[in-house]
Amino acid sequence: MAVPTKSCVVCGRTITWRKKWERNWDEIRYCSERCRRHKVSPADTALESEILRLLDERAAGATICPSEVARNLGGKDWRASMEPARQAARRLVAAGEVEITQGGAVVDPSTAKGPIRIRKVRRG
Ligand SMILES: [Zn+2]
Repeated sequence: MAVPTKSCVVCGRTITWRKKWERNWDEIRYCSERCRRHKVSPADTALESEILRLLDERAAGATICPSEVARNLGGKDWRASMEPARQAARRLVAAGEVEITQGGAVVDPSTAKGPIRIRKVRRG
């Protein structure tokens, strides 16, 4: 049987079942203490909305870069919003809204290193 997994509600990375969670796996929501403390702020939710808004403006199948999202909301200090923008993208992957691609291929957002692109999941 495959080991159960779920997505961290904050960073969107995969959480893989561990023996220590045997009794409370259903309650596990965060991959780490850091995510548990951080939670999802209104600024994080705004990044998700901006990703979806930018994608809605583009042609079907078009991709955006997390830096576009960070620049639009982060102002002068937009670089500080890069990782939060990537996390927002991963949460949207977990929600089934978007895919993360590298070189045109869909990648696992938990393990992708380097520049990523975001596109909408094609429906029907
Ligand atoms: Zn996390």
